[in-house]
Amino acid sequence: MTTEKPDDIALLRVAIDVARRSRERGDHPFGAILVGPDGEILLEAMNTCGTLGDRTGHAERNLMTAASLKYDVDFLRTCTMYTSAEPCAMCAGSVYWTGVGRVVHGMSELALKNLIGPDPENLTMDLPCRTIFAAGQRCVEVVGPLLDEESAVVHDGFWTGLGMA
Ligand SMILES: [Zn+2]
Repeated sequence: MTTEKPDDIALLRVAIDVARRSRERGDHPFGAILVGPDGEILLEAMNTCGTLGDRTGHAERNLMTAASLKYDVDFLRTCTMYTSAEPCAMCAGSVYWTGVGRVVHGMSELALKNLIGPDPENLTMDLPCRTIFAAGQRCVEVVGPLLDEESAVVHDGFWTGLGMA
């Protein structure tokens, strides 16, 4: 099932703004938020590849760690993660293991790969998150890509092909 909800676009724009702030503070331009069943924003997370030097510090994985430590699986099943770009294999895995029930994402991973190119800072894969989730034993609803152009703007001039700008 991939049913778009009325607030999806507005909440995805919040996640894109988190990505913008992540870039401003010296991290890769990715952001994610966790939204509860009533549409309330519960958590936000930025990328931490730059500030912490954690190469697994993708925004979505950081968000899922925080969510897992704070909420139980039954509650997280009712929550949605909004993320500025499609989750990679690692991040989709973290969504699966954390128990979040729904993902709404901006540009696709393939579009991101084409945008970034072979930058050693972010050797983007091309593995749709739906493929990851389909291999699991519980359903994760995915809505996206949405706002392709808006979610790409935060990457403008950032990736040089030679590492971080
Ligand atoms: Zn990731």
